[in-house]
Amino acid sequence: MQQSRYLTVAERSNGDWLIHSGLSAAVLHVTRDKIAEFKALCEGTVPTATDPLLALAYNRVIDSFHRANILIDDDVDELRLIESRFFKARFSNTQPLMFTIAPTMRCNLACSYCYAAEATACPSSMSQSTIQQVGNFIGNLLAARPEHLRRINVSWAGGEPLADIPTFTSLAEEIFNKTESLGALYWGNGLVTNGTLLEEKLLNQLIVQPFKIRLIQLTLDGPRALHDSRRIALTKKPTFDLICGKMALAKQYVDIHVRVHVDANFEPSRFQQVIDDVLQTGAVETCDTNVTFHLGRLHCTSLSLNCQTTGSGIPVMSVDRYSALELECARVAKAAGVRFGMQDWAEPLDVPCGSVQEANYVIDAEGNLGKCWESMGMDKDTVGTVNCGPSFHCSAYHKWLDFNPFVRATCRECNYLPLCVGGCPLQADRAPQGSCESCKPGKFTLKERLLFQHFGE
Ligand code: SF4
Ligand code: SF4
Repeated sequence: MQQSRYLTVAERSNGDWLIHSGLSAAVLHVTRDKIAEFKALCEGTVPTATDPLLALAYNRVIDSFHRANILIDDDVDELRLIESRFFKARFSNTQPLMFTIAPTMRCNLACSYCYAAEATACPSSMSQSTIQQVGNFIGNLLAARPEHLRRINVSWAGGEPLADIPTFTSLAEEIFNKTESLGALYWGNGLVTNGTLLEEKLLNQLIVQPFKIRLIQLTLDGPRALHDSRRIALTKKPTFDLICGKMALAKQYVDIHVRVHVDANFEPSRFQQVIDDVLQTGAVETCDTNVTFHLGRLHCTSLSLNCQTTGSGIPVMSVDRYSALELECARVAKAAGVRFGMQDWAEPLDVPCGSVQEANYVIDAEGNLGKCWESMGMDKDTVGTVNCGPSFHCSAYHKWLDFNPFVRATCRECNYLPLCVGGCPLQADRAPQGSCESCKPGKFTLKERLLFQHFGE
């Protein structure tokens, strides 16, 4: 057996080791006095124990290292293993069909950086004929699968989905009924909303069929003052307190993710102020177990930009700085007693995100198909329509379907590959060649994150 090439060793200040396997996410704590023994076990140089009980104990330890992918069989090529997982997951039909759908591109807010402003092809809500085409498109994909593999996972985005509730409801009913008629399992998932239109009666409708929403993502652009300068209603009214009020209501029904937007000037102290401002409204209490804060890095979505600014000129934070910031904000949240999630950093992934999987689509309000929700509604990223299906002759489609980190030398040699699998394909397409902007942030602070997560250090 050989030691896995995807081990990360984080050393504590007392000399202990925390060892993380990128292949399995297993974590091993080796105290300082056992490090030599650990190395010997990995190198296969442990002297044969004369005591049968000790020999049995060594064998058990080696066996557990093997199951945790700390030790790997000699004939296993780990890179090929990850590559095989990647291609299997991309074209597998055992995963649920995943859809993110925008019933409307209308919105009642006018955030300056919003990608919807670039989505000029989609000015309004989905028409009734497009709603039927969405139902048929999804129905055909489901019908092509054996009945026991017919599963569908639907999330909602926009525009603002709640800006046109009749269209939203009609679309959800069409999809739910189609799913039911085919004996498929419908898994309602998340709703990305600015939250300002949430009401008690509406929430009672959203948690049952045809929506079955389990999670609502709300967004704050920073502390009250900054948020209110960026995330403004069409009426020019501030929205921070309004959104916090809706958060207090919605958390009684569903899990809440509070996404806090990050630009290049974001500091941990700004996040502290966000938490203070939210706690002050009473929307979140430190005992809440279903409200989780996380960061969302603003980045360029426009094809013509260079990752330095968003389409509206807001400066973008580099990914390595963002990595350190996310960890610092996790510390801030812990001290404040609120839940915080660092995204996608310690668990092995089969694919970097759903955009490269065949059974994953975003659908905009005109019925255009895309692969990434960040590029929803943008003509250049359209891969087909719900009426005609995806077009294999469309270059935008190839960008996703032939995304392959295993041809990039930097990824092949990267210790973080099993946890990243090539990073964000959208950024990889848009960032300058050789840039690490598409890498997942966890790469840059993996050791520090492990020590924080497991020892609070
Ligand atoms: S994108 Fe970056 S972090 Fe991800 S595997 Fe490639 S080099 Fe590593
Ligand atoms: S391509 Fe990038 S931005 Fe789009 S869903 Fe994937 S990770 Fe997110």
